[in-house]
Amino acid sequence: MVFPKNYKLYIDGKWVDSESGETFPSLNPAKPREIIGNFQLGNGDDVNKAVDAAERAFKKWSEMPAPKRGLILLRAAQILREKKEELARLLTKEMGKVIAEARGDVQEAIDMAEYMAGEGRRLFGYTTPSELRDKFCMTVRMPVGVFGLITPWNFPIAIPAWKIMPALICGNTVVFKPSSDTPLCAIKFVEILEKAGLPKGVLNLVTGPGDTVGMAIVRHEKVRGISFTGHRDTGRTILKEVGLKKVGLELGGKNGIIVLEDADQNLALDGVVWGGYGTTGQRCTAASRVIVHEKIKKKFETMLVNKIKKLKIGSGLDLKTDVGPLINKAAQDKCKNYVEIGLNEGAKLLTGGKIPRMSGFFFEPTLFTDCSMDMRIAQEEIFGPIVSLIPVKDFDEAIDAMNSVEYGLSSSIYTKDMRKAFLAIQRIEAGITYVNSSTIGAEVHLPFGGIKHTGTGVREGGIEGVQEFSEIKTVYIDYSGKLQKAQIDTE
Ligand code: NDP
Repeated sequence: MVFPKNYKLYIDGKWVDSESGETFPSLNPAKPREIIGNFQLGNGDDVNKAVDAAERAFKKWSEMPAPKRGLILLRAAQILREKKEELARLLTKEMGKVIAEARGDVQEAIDMAEYMAGEGRRLFGYTTPSELRDKFCMTVRMPVGVFGLITPWNFPIAIPAWKIMPALICGNTVVFKPSSDTPLCAIKFVEILEKAGLPKGVLNLVTGPGDTVGMAIVRHEKVRGISFTGHRDTGRTILKEVGLKKVGLELGGKNGIIVLEDADQNLALDGVVWGGYGTTGQRCTAASRVIVHEKIKKKFETMLVNKIKKLKIGSGLDLKTDVGPLINKAAQDKCKNYVEIGLNEGAKLLTGGKIPRMSGFFFEPTLFTDCSMDMRIAQEEIFGPIVSLIPVKDFDEAIDAMNSVEYGLSSSIYTKDMRKAFLAIQRIEAGITYVNSSTIGAEVHLPFGGIKHTGTGVREGGIEGVQEFSEIKTVYIDYSGKLQKAQIDTE
């Protein structure tokens, strides 16, 4: 019998045990009896040590020229590339997503590492004229200090990369707390950064529960910035406790796809199935609402049901699998509960709705129709393979349905009418709008994030991703040799 390995915390450049002396397991969601490893149950003392180490490392790291910091990220990208398949397989084992998507998850981290390595030669500020003579005005970017990064399980390599890479290139040091459902992915990622040559103390990893380890980071006085991705309610709790820190929250979504009567229906069909059931619906950008013109509703429903019934459920490591397991038992119970809610609300179940007789945390790809926009299944984030179809009579009603939710992350419209496409871009309340493409497919060099209850309005990725992890300093250089007074010396 092979016993699962015990993994450690990474503090001040060393792999160490938690002060608690306790561990917790991480399971394979496709085979819950398989324990992938045991992980340190970190606590507040571990967080204190990690923050102290990050604080000590800050001066040297922030004073290293940014292009040199970039070289370390580039080396990390190279190692990630070499280990891509190994990491992807591990990711599928720990998180459950199908192997092709797991490769995509790792690729996103490679892309982000390369992109942010290049950013080390930019980190732009700007120059602008002064209102006074012989005076020079510019802005420069400064690191924030020790940054606390708290991440979810659904992109266990990509999301840490979307935070760690920009945080490091900007000169911050980091205390990283990953989801307790995917600690091994986090450890493997940190090992790669260590191997790439990151100096000790620059990146510290503390595994353990959100309400103790996560909260200790959020409340810590020496932590100057918090970047969190996760559930809306956790975001709310963090906002209450974080104090006067720089804070970025990336929260939930209830994303919709509009399919108008003139749409290429085969294209829309592929987009809905990929957006709704890819990653088993466990993406913040998952398409969990399909807003369909009533003229094409019947035909589109039939097309959808036929395609959904062909989706194969199973282990993500099996190349034939389309839909892997949910992350854990709670997620499976939540899906079951939402099916009950949908039925009680009067929605019509077209396919799915059950837990299959399999040992993992699987759930059938599920489609409800005849949903109204105010039903709970059409309003609340389910985070599973459950899609609600909302029929509408025209374009205006489609936009109203799209905007009827509290979230505003991703959105999509299928139409051949360019005027309607542009009107939709203008009127949809969301951080991202796709035209004739599904709600998912972020690229690292573009800003990613949402409005309304999807977060605090920060964007990750692109140049905006650098803003989240840096401060702007305004610099005035007066070379006139005399006292000049802005707004007062008007000559
Ligand atoms: P959670 O909010 O439950 O957890 C996210 C992270 O926060 C985990 O590391 C968790 O630790 C930690 N945490 C939990 N409670 C606290 C607390 N009180 N203080 C500090 N940290 C805490 O989200 P999930 O992991 O379940 O992720 C799913 C959610 O993430 C969905 O709502 C999804 O929409 C959202 N998401 C948003 C994205 C975006 O960019 N907008 C992208 C991806 C996901 P632990 O695991 O130990 O509980």
